[in-house]
Amino acid sequence: MGLEVTAIVDGRARHRRLVAELESALAGNRERLRVKKRTVSNLFRYEGRAAATARRVDLGRFNQPLAVDLVERTLDVQGLATYEDIVDFVLPYGLAPTITPELKHITVGGAIVGIGIESNSYRYGFVHDALMDADVLLPDGRVVLCSADNEHADLFHGLANSYGTLGYVLRARLRLRPARRYVALQTRAFTSAEDLVGALAAAVDDPSVDYLESLTYAKDRLYLTAGRDTDAAEEVTSVYGSTVFYREVSRPGALTLTTKDYFFRYDPEWFWALPHSSAVDLFRKYAPRRLRHSAFYSRYTDWRSVVEQKLHLGGGGGDDDPMELLIQDWQVPWRHARPLLDFALDTVDLDGSPLMAVPVRVPASAPCYPMTPGELYLNVGSYFYVRRKPGHERFDATRAIDEFCFGHDGIKMLYSTTFLGEEEFGRRYGGAAYAALKEKYDPRRLLPTLFEKAVSAH
Ligand SMILES: Cc1cc2nc3c(=O)[nH]c(=O)nc-3n(C[C@H](O)[C@H](O)[C@H](O)COP(=O)(O)OP(=O)(O)OC[C@H]3O[C@@H](n4cnc5c(N)ncnc54)[C@H](O)[C@@H]3O)c2cc1C
Repeated sequence: MGLEVTAIVDGRARHRRLVAELESALAGNRERLRVKKRTVSNLFRYEGRAAATARRVDLGRFNQPLAVDLVERTLDVQGLATYEDIVDFVLPYGLAPTITPELKHITVGGAIVGIGIESNSYRYGFVHDALMDADVLLPDGRVVLCSADNEHADLFHGLANSYGTLGYVLRARLRLRPARRYVALQTRAFTSAEDLVGALAAAVDDPSVDYLESLTYAKDRLYLTAGRDTDAAEEVTSVYGSTVFYREVSRPGALTLTTKDYFFRYDPEWFWALPHSSAVDLFRKYAPRRLRHSAFYSRYTDWRSVVEQKLHLGGGGGDDDPMELLIQDWQVPWRHARPLLDFALDTVDLDGSPLMAVPVRVPASAPCYPMTPGELYLNVGSYFYVRRKPGHERFDATRAIDEFCFGHDGIKMLYSTTFLGEEEFGRRYGGAAYAALKEKYDPRRLLPTLFEKAVSAH
C-alpha cells in the first residue's frame, strides 16, 4: 500500500482552525467551565443532582474522525466523535478501535476519561490503553498536546478516570486493530459459577477466540459467548427487527453478526431495558432505524421523568417502589471472580435480568484507576432495575457489592452512583497523584474535583 493513501479524509486542518478559535474565545479563562455537547450523556446517577453554575463551552463541532493511517494503523479523531461514526470511518479499511464500547453514541473523549470496556478487554485493556497522544483543553483556555513522553506525560496518564475534571479531550490519536466482516458467536450454558469462571479462564488463552462475555441469570443458569472474527458467513443475523440480542445469547447455539452489529449489539435494546410487550414488539418490527438506538430511549426516559415530576405523577424509584436501579461495573482479580459472582447472585434479586461478566487484563495501571498490570480480572456489570429484597434499604445492593469489591482488591467504575467518603475515595482512586494533577492543570478549581464529580456534586 503506497504512502499516498496512508491518510484518508484528512480533517486535521479544520481541527487546527477550531482549536485556534476555541483558544482565542477562552484565552485567560477564570470562570468555572462546563461542556455543552450534542450527544446524550452516559454518565448516570441514581438520583438527580443540581447542576453547578458554570460557563458553558460548546465543543459540539469537535465531533469528527479526522484521518486514518493504514500503514501505522492509527486513527486521529476529535474528542466528541461517537463510536458509531468512528466505526463507520475505519471499518471499510478492515480496521477497528481496539475497544469499541457497546453503545453507539458514547464518544471517544468520554470513553478515554471514563474507562471504556468491551468483550475483548482481556486482550487490549481499556479504551485509554490505545491512546497515543491527545489535544486537551485546559480550564484556563490553553490547549496542550500530551503524550507518554512529552512535558505533559502526567496529564496523558492521568486522563483515564478523570471524567473531564482535568480538561477536555479535543483530539485523540489511537491505535487500531485489524477487523473482519463478521463475528461468529458460540454460546454455551453452565450450571455453576465455578465452571463458568474456569471456562472463561481457559478461553482467554485460546488464540482462536477474539471476544468473551457471559450473561448470568442465577447460580445454575449461566452462559458464555465466545466470538471469532471471520470473513465467511453462511447466515447473518441482524440485531434489529424482531431479534433481541441478549435473548439469542441466553441459550446455547451459534450466531453470526456483521462486525458493526456485533460492536453495537446491545444498543437497539439498551442492553435489556426495553420491556417485553406486544406494543414494544411492534415498535421493534416497524420503527425506523433512527429510533432504534439507546440515545433515543435515553432522551425519551429523561423526558418522561421530567413530565412525571412536573405533573406529580410519581415516576417510581422512591422508597415504596420494590424495584431499584443497579447500574454499575466492578472488577476483581481472578482469584475473587467466582466469589464476586456468587456474592452478587446471593445479594441481588435480578428479577429476570442478567449480570454481564467479561475478563479484563490491563497492560499498565492508570494513576487514577489503579489495577495490577498483566493480572486477569473479572468485570461484573449490572445495567438495569433489580428487585429490592425484603428488609433492605434503597441501594443496599449497590453498597453491598461495592464493599465486597473493594474488600477483595477490586475497583469499580465511576460512571454511576458511588457512596464512598472522600478519604476512602482518595485511597481507592489514586488521590495523591490526582491532587498533583489538579494542582498543575486546574489550580483555580475551574472544574470540579473527581470526588465532586463522582460522589458529591454534579
Ligand atoms: C447505561 C450505561 C451503559 C454503558 N455502557 C458502556 C459500554 O457498553 N461500554 C463502555 O465502555 N462504557 C459504557 N458505559 C460507560 C461510559 O463509557 C462512560 O460513562 C463514558 O464516560 C461515557 O462517555 P460519553 O461520551 O457518553 O460522555 P458523557 O456521558 O457526556 O460524559 C461522561 C464524563 O466524561 C466527561 N467527558 C465527556 N467528553 C469528554 C471529553 N471529550 N474530554 C474530557 N472529558 C469528557 C464528562 O464531563 C463526564 O464527566 C455505560 C454507561 C452507562 C450509564
